[in-house]
Formats: sequence, structure tokens, C-alpha cells
Amino acid sequence: MKKGLFLILIGLCCTVFSFNCFASNYALHVWGYNSTSVDINLYNLSSVYSTAFSNAKSSWNNVDTPCSIYSSPYSSNYIYDIAYNSTYLSQYLVYENDYTDPDHITTRFNIKINNNYVMTMQTQEKGSIIAHEIGHAFGLNDYDAVSTVLMSHTRNRYSLYSPKTGDIEGVNASW
Ligand SMILES: [Zn+2]
Repeated sequence: MKKGLFLILIGLCCTVFSFNCFASNYALHVWGYNSTSVDINLYNLSSVYSTAFSNAKSSWNNVDTPCSIYSSPYSSNYIYDIAYNSTYLSQYLVYENDYTDPDHITTRFNIKINNNYVMTMQTQEKGSIIAHEIGHAFGLNDYDAVSTVLMSHTRNRYSLYSPKTGDIEGVNASW
């Protein structure tokens, strides 16, 4: 818990007080999955998201971090799509945790995609949304100080759909 909060505060200070201060563009949280090898079950994911999921998975697995993600029919972590009344495009939901590793406490999570918005988006945008949620499982928090990272809500989802330097540095700092 302390490590995550400390890094978030450093990032905010650099953004606010100095233009020249070098700051990595990421923030961490403790709700990442408790393993660098993240299993996820696609059973409840519509096939309209298959290509986007595959792209998002590859985009993370092809960059240099300790973390990776793979699909498994035996996984208790689900990614699923549903139409629901909310302003969220998607959510990373933690269902179970323990404190064996206090920096990565989640032992079961779901990624929920809101079909009201996302179903009709382009494949790149769908992939950007899924890759962002995978970033949460890898230990990254949302980061809105810049729009040039995957974890920013103000990113262009059509053109920014894979992990950028700040995202990669964040995962490496988390692990
Ligand atoms: Zn997020």
C-alpha cells in the first residue's frame, strides 16, 4: 500500500511543480493480480471482441515487463461484455484478495466491457480499452496527467492501443 501511494504522490508533484522535472508517466495501485502470469477466461466474451482481445494480449506480451497474460478455460478471472447503465466504458473489478504480496493483492478479478458504448467501436478502440484494463491487472492505476499512455482516460483510443513507455516503466516499477 505505501509503495503505491508514494509513487502516485511523486508523479503528481512533478507534474504540478516543475516543467523540467523528469517524471515517469504512470501511477501504481495495490489491486494488481498476485502473479506476473495473469490467466483470464474468455468464455463470456462475445466474439466481436476476439480480435481486440488478441491484439491487447499480444501488445502486452510483446513488451519487456515481467508480466504476461494468457487465456485459459480454467481461469476464475473473466472478461465479459454486457450492456449496462453507466458512464463507464469498461471496469476492472476485484472480487477476492489477500495480502501475501501487499503490493499485488488481487486473487480474482473480472474485466467488464460496457456494450452500450464499446460494441460498435472500431477494433483499435476495443483493443485500447481491453489493454487498459489488463494494465490494471498488472498493477497500474489510471493516469490522467498526460494523454500519451494507455492508462490515461483522455488518450485517443483509435491510435493508442498498446503499452507506451510510461505504462511499461510502471509495470517494471510495480514488480
Ligand atoms: Zn482504468
